[in-house]
Amino acid sequence: MENLLEKINQNKLHVINTPVILQNLCVMRDKNTKTQEMRIAARQITRILLYEASKSLPLVEKTVETPLTTFQTQVIDEDINIIISPILRAGLIFTDEAIDMLPQACIRHIGMYRDEKTLKPIWYYNKLPEKLENSHKYQIFITDPMLATGNSLVEAIKLYAERHIPLENIKVISIISAPQGILNIQSKFPEIEIITAALDSHLNEYGYIVPGMGDAGDRIFNT
Ligand code: URA
Repeated sequence: MENLLEKINQNKLHVINTPVILQNLCVMRDKNTKTQEMRIAARQITRILLYEASKSLPLVEKTVETPLTTFQTQVIDEDINIIISPILRAGLIFTDEAIDMLPQACIRHIGMYRDEKTLKPIWYYNKLPEKLENSHKYQIFITDPMLATGNSLVEAIKLYAERHIPLENIKVISIISAPQGILNIQSKFPEIEIITAALDSHLNEYGYIVPGMGDAGDRIFNT
């Protein structure tokens, strides 16, 4: 663990462990937490993580008429295409908060599951267009609550990299991350920023994050 932590580029890793996050993460980790409480806690956490990710969205000047005067301010650039890409299925937990916060965003689902033996991602759904015009005008948030091996996230990032989206415009947002997963992403895409609520100890032999929260999809979707 010590060695792995030393290898992580901390400049590209943002661990957002505010009191509200810690409080809700404790609820999610607790094995006795029921589905509905899980979902409420997840929404609280995802809102804060999305807010952090949104801090670097490009701004433009705008003039607004208040009831009192004309005021020059800044707003999110309308020419920027914001894509939220949840990795199915657990990544869906981010989408309700994402569309509330960024109603202009487009949701592009990415369907991958991991083979339980090899832990490699297997594709089953990808509707991303072959080309994204004006690729520098995109901002991509890829969401997955558990950054475990990082293999699915690496494949998802590749999809956008192949479409010439600048890597600086892609962010990975996860609730809990393992050092192995972070290093996997950083070794292939050092420019990518990772926003997470917790950096946990390690992966076990089945690819689960320890201490983690178990199977996030099962616990959130009650399966
Ligand atoms: N996916 C999960 O849902 N949990 C883990 O701990 C790792 C991957």
